[in-house]
Amino acid sequence: MSTHNRKTIGILGGTFDPIHFGHLRAAIEIYEHLNLDEIRLIPCRFPPHKTTPMADAHHRLTMIRKAVQGTKLQVDECEIEREPPSYSVDTLMALRRTYPEASLCMIVGADTFIGLPQWHQWEKLIQLTNIVVTHRGDPALPKKGIIKNFLEKHALATHESIRSFTAGRIIQQRITQLDISSTQIRNIIHTKLSPHFLLPSKVWEYIQTQGLYGYNKNFVAHTHQEEITRR
Ligand code: ATP
Ligand code: MG
Repeated sequence: MSTHNRKTIGILGGTFDPIHFGHLRAAIEIYEHLNLDEIRLIPCRFPPHKTTPMADAHHRLTMIRKAVQGTKLQVDECEIEREPPSYSVDTLMALRRTYPEASLCMIVGADTFIGLPQWHQWEKLIQLTNIVVTHRGDPALPKKGIIKNFLEKHALATHESIRSFTAGRIIQQRITQLDISSTQIRNIIHTKLSPHFLLPSKVWEYIQTQGLYGYNKNFVAHTHQEEITRR
C-alpha cells in the first residue's frame, strides 16, 4: 500500500477521571499537526499502573462523549468493554488485527512516556504502534538510561514521515501547554471550589448533577450549579 493511501490513526489512552482541556487540546493539535485520518480517545476500565479511578467507567465514558460532541475526536470503548486490567498492548493488538496496514500513532504525554518500561509487555508496544510523545511541563525526558536509548533507537529521522510507518517510530511533538490534570480537578472539587474553565462546561455540569468526585451542591457556594438549576 502506498503511504498516500495508508490510514493514519491516533490513539490517546487514559483514565480521563475526568477528561479536561489538556487532553482535548493535545488530541486536536496532534490530529492537525500529523494530519491524522482519525483520532480515538480510549478510556481504560481499570488502569494497571494507578489507583482505581474515582468515577465509574460509564461516567468517565459519558463525560468523554459530552466533551467530544461536535468535534473530530472519536471515542473508542474497547477497553471499557474488555475484561480488566486494561493493557495497552491488548488494545493495540486488537487495532492491528482490524487495521493491518494502518499507521497507528499512540499519543502519550512526557510524564506517561517516562513510565513506559513499567507497562505490561512494554517492548512489544513499539512493534505495534508509532509513539507520539507530547511535551507536558516538567519533567524533561531523561538524558540517559532505558528511555533515552529507546527514544534514540526509534526516533523518526527528519526526512521521514510518520505516515510511512505502520509502527516502530517515535516522535516528540510540542503542543500548547495547559497545566491541567485530572488530579488537580478532583482536588479542586474536593476542596469545594470550582474547576470551571479547566474542562468543558458540559462535563462540569455532569459532575455536579451526578455528584461525582465528592461534589455536594449544598456545600458549594459559587458554582455553575446555580446556573443549571435556573435554566
Ligand atoms: P491524573 O492526574 O489522574 O493522572 P491526567 O490529567 O494525567 O490524570 P490521564 O488520564 O492520566 O490524565 O492522561 C492520559 C494521557 O493524557 C497521558 O498520556 C497524559 O500524559 C496526557 N495528558 C493529560 N493531561 C495532559 C495535559 N494537560 N497536557 C498534555 N497531555 C496531557
Ligand atoms: Mg496522568
